[in-house]
Amino acid sequence: MQSVSDIKILILDDDTFMLKLLTRMLAKQGYTTVSACDNGQDALKKIDHADTCPDLILLDLNMPDMDGIEFVRYLVDRNYHGNLVLVSGEDERMLKTAEKLVHAHKIQMLGYLHKPVNPEKLSELLQKWEPYSPAKPSDKKIYGAAEIQSAISNHELVNYYQPKVSVATGDVIGVETLVRWHHPQDGLILPDRFIHTAEQHGLINDLTELVLRQALAQAKIWHQNGQILRVAINVSMDNLASLDFQDLVVRLVTEHGLPPQKITLEVTESQLMGSDTRIPLEILTRLRLKRFHLSIDDFGTGHSSMAQLRDIPFSELKIDQGFVHRAWMDDTLRAIYDASLSMAKQLSMEVVAEGVEDRNDWELLRQTGCDYAQGNFVSVPLLPADFSRWLEEWQSRVQNGLVTPSASP
Ligand code: C2E
Ligand code: CA
Ligand code: CA
Repeated sequence: MQSVSDIKILILDDDTFMLKLLTRMLAKQGYTTVSACDNGQDALKKIDHADTCPDLILLDLNMPDMDGIEFVRYLVDRNYHGNLVLVSGEDERMLKTAEKLVHAHKIQMLGYLHKPVNPEKLSELLQKWEPYSPAKPSDKKIYGAAEIQSAISNHELVNYYQPKVSVATGDVIGVETLVRWHHPQDGLILPDRFIHTAEQHGLINDLTELVLRQALAQAKIWHQNGQILRVAINVSMDNLASLDFQDLVVRLVTEHGLPPQKITLEVTESQLMGSDTRIPLEILTRLRLKRFHLSIDDFGTGHSSMAQLRDIPFSELKIDQGFVHRAWMDDTLRAIYDASLSMAKQLSMEVVAEGVEDRNDWELLRQTGCDYAQGNFVSVPLLPADFSRWLEEWQSRVQNGLVTPSASP
């Protein structure tokens, strides 16, 4: 076990007063193997020698010659395996952006510190330090097209359903169909490990047709039991390349005796649309004319843009979970959440917030008048067999104050 005095720390800051201050703060906490540099070049020299290469760098972002971000780039070139703490007088948003950059470069980061540095915060961060150990090879197997093809043929794809509920009343208004692969050897496989390959290898039409057929069969059962749920399925842009798709959807929905108003197609742009957008546009417009609901999925992310809002008659907007969870405590997320909500309302669209994970997220939706919530706080995606039990539990949670105005967070 390494003691704190063995951890090699390098402080890089152009302000020599700051160097002294941090060195003293570290010494008080028992970190005595500390060196200090007031410019990036000197620091890189230390990193280039095994015996002076630090385990941890306290890095100032704002420096006149080589700034902190540029310095991180040189660390990447050197395959630096130590940890990093960013230190800056910049605001929270700037520090968070810098943190994301560092993560994108796969450099271990303990966190960031605002100047003036608070000794307790410093100590808290340093306690997170762990010696470097090479990353384990990823156990996430990549599935090939042939395996996915056989999963489709053998009906190994199973639909799960995640409820969408009204925030004002708690009523369950529908479900989103989320496909999983019950792999005979590997167990339950989530869609992010096979949808992309299916799209790349021309298997997405077969996959979507299977998911749709299963979802319609389930919707019919729910309707026959008096549970009039609106069932959503995810449609990839690749499904919209041929007009056959619209015929298929209309035919299957009619065969199952379901009203189009009870079916939603959630559309995300998985890759940049080709130059010819006429066919997807025609399919979506004709489906909307037949009263199917169209939902713009992952709104706010790069793939789901305002241009699509302008061009396609969507009836529902799903605010991406990245702008929902924790938006109550983060000003930037909150601004994007508010803007998405307000835009949807102005366009008379229904709004679903995705990724509602806890009570705080739920309270934000209530306070801001968001129509519908979806997320693990309400329910994880369920197999149909588990739906009734969940519904009972949910109704008792609702009665116990989830939607009453007096409910406290
Ligand atoms: P999506 O359409 O954005 O679906 C929501 C995802 O968020 C689901 O992941 C769901 O399990 C997850 N989720 C739900 N609540 C929470 C929460 O509170 N917190 C967090 N962190 N996550 C939550 P899943 O099932 O892994 O699906 C991933 C994506 O795969 C979906 O994203 C969708 O784009 C795609 N997908 C799923 N089923 C199909 C399908 O049948 N066809 C196509 N083309 N794509 C599908
Ligand atoms: Ca979706
Ligand atoms: Ca989504």
